[in-house]
Amino acid sequence: MNEPAKKEQLVPDESQPQEQTLSKEKTLAEQAPPSYECRSCGYTYVPSKGDNQGNVAAGTLFTELSNDWRCPVCGVRKTQFINIGAQDAPSGFAENLDYGLGINRLTPSQKNILIFGALGLGFIFFLSLYGLN
Ligand SMILES: [Zn+2]
Repeated sequence: MNEPAKKEQLVPDESQPQEQTLSKEKTLAEQAPPSYECRSCGYTYVPSKGDNQGNVAAGTLFTELSNDWRCPVCGVRKTQFINIGAQDAPSGFAENLDYGLGINRLTPSQKNILIFGALGLGFIFFLSLYGLN
C-alpha cells in the first residue's frame, strides 16, 4: 500500500563531480587496444581486425589470444610478438579506400586481401611522392 516515493530517483543528481568525465579523456590512440608486431616477420596483429586465418574474431585483444596461437605468416609463438601500441586509431586510411573502390559486396576475406593490397599500393604511392621532389 505505502509505496515509497519514486520521484526522488528521477531527479538528476547534480552533485556528481564533473572531474570523472575529464579524467577519462584520452587520445584516440590511447583508447584503441594495442597492436602487436611479430619480431620474426613483421606481421602486425591488429585487435580490431582479428586474424582470419587463425579464426580469431575481430575485436579480440592480443592478450586474449590462446597460448597456442601462432603468427599467421611465419608461425612463431605469441612470445615473439612485441607491443607496438595502437596502430589503427586515427587515420582510417584503409577504410577510406574501401569507399572509393565500392567493394562492399565482397566477403570479409576478399576484403582483407584488397585492404592489404591497397595498403601495399598506398605505401608504394606514398614513396613515389618523395620522388616528385
Ligand atoms: Zn611472424
